[in-house]
Amino acid sequence: MMQEKEKSAINKAKWVEVDLEAIEHNYRQIRQKIAPEVKLLGVVKADAYGHGAVEVSRLLSAAGVDMLGVTTVEEGRALREAGIRTPILVFGAFLPEEAFLFAEFNLTATVASPEAVEWLKKAAAETRTIIKVQLKVETGLGRFGIWPREVVTVAQEIGAVPGLQLEGVYSHLATAMWRNNRYALKQFRIFQQVCAELEQAGIKGLVRHIANSAVLLKLPEMHLDMVRVGTLLYGQAPVPSLQKGLALKEAWRFKVKVIYIKKLPAGHSVGYGRTFRAKRPTTIAILPVGFTDGVQVEPVLKPAGFSDFVKGAVKLLLRYLGRTKFEAPVRFPKGTGRIIGKVGMQLTMVDITGLEGIEVGTAAILPARRTVVNPCIPKVYLHEKQGAEQVAAVGTS
Ligand SMILES: *Cc1c(COP(=O)(O)O)cnc(C)c1O
Repeated sequence: MMQEKEKSAINKAKWVEVDLEAIEHNYRQIRQKIAPEVKLLGVVKADAYGHGAVEVSRLLSAAGVDMLGVTTVEEGRALREAGIRTPILVFGAFLPEEAFLFAEFNLTATVASPEAVEWLKKAAAETRTIIKVQLKVETGLGRFGIWPREVVTVAQEIGAVPGLQLEGVYSHLATAMWRNNRYALKQFRIFQQVCAELEQAGIKGLVRHIANSAVLLKLPEMHLDMVRVGTLLYGQAPVPSLQKGLALKEAWRFKVKVIYIKKLPAGHSVGYGRTFRAKRPTTIAILPVGFTDGVQVEPVLKPAGFSDFVKGAVKLLLRYLGRTKFEAPVRFPKGTGRIIGKVGMQLTMVDITGLEGIEVGTAAILPARRTVVNPCIPKVYLHEKQGAEQVAAVGTS
């Protein structure tokens, strides 16, 4: 037992725990929400949202997922090189010189411009293979996509190339997570109109899809022939109120061991810039992680509206006033600590005053955005819920 543990990442100071059973459970929950004839595409872009693209793709493939989705050709290539044989749709636009990779690795290309047809046509001819393609329609997101009025023409161009096989048509929603469905429904209407025009032009049997996690739950009429699911697979609800009717399991935990503990007198400050000052005698624990690991790295965005701005401002004010309740919670076996002071490049300080059972070596669960946690941090894949003893594989992907 000990020997086995020695080899595992558990003996490191920090690791990401991925519960594959939770992902499989979530997959089955999602399946129950869609009709049996509706296909399911599992989104594994961005290293499967930080869970490990290869391991998650293996799991989903074994569970019977119909297709996998990634953003870049390179992501698709990595999955093929790891032996994944499930169909893979590459969502993103690609460079002309990347076109042959769709042939070489049997990846489905997204055609989002008329030029892309030319590049793929050339690649198919040069490699003497058939490249599968799907059309992306611009319905309102303002990113990749062919204008609705050009879709039939481009579809006909694809149809005229023997080396290209048109298998689907899709679009992506801009406001699926909003409570107000007006814009999403408008996009959906445009998409359906395009699908009808394709049918009228005699282009039939295409897999049509537009739904992501948020829409899957609240607008079942948008399921069409396939749904594309990421967020829900990993146990997160796109909007908390949307989790109703689905018992999702959290699949990801960032764990770090305490490497140092110190008691500070009242009035002492913590960290660079002295942004935290102890109002009372304070016990701090130091964790060997920082922003280089992805801790407290949050995108700085323009507030989406006035209420968003006010919320952000109030939070900042409460932080300024030292209301640690609003600081990021760090979970220990017997209670919750709060990150205090400025997070350093490789160190984070946590207020653990009054918490019991914490010593050097105690593991904490850290709040972090799973997609920005440094991919070099080892991942430990759990196959059973008993925790660290059940380590089956350690990946560093
Ligand atoms: C990321 C992505 C999805 C999945 O979105 P979730 O909200 O995570 O389910 C679906 N489709 C496309 C094109 C995407 O890029």
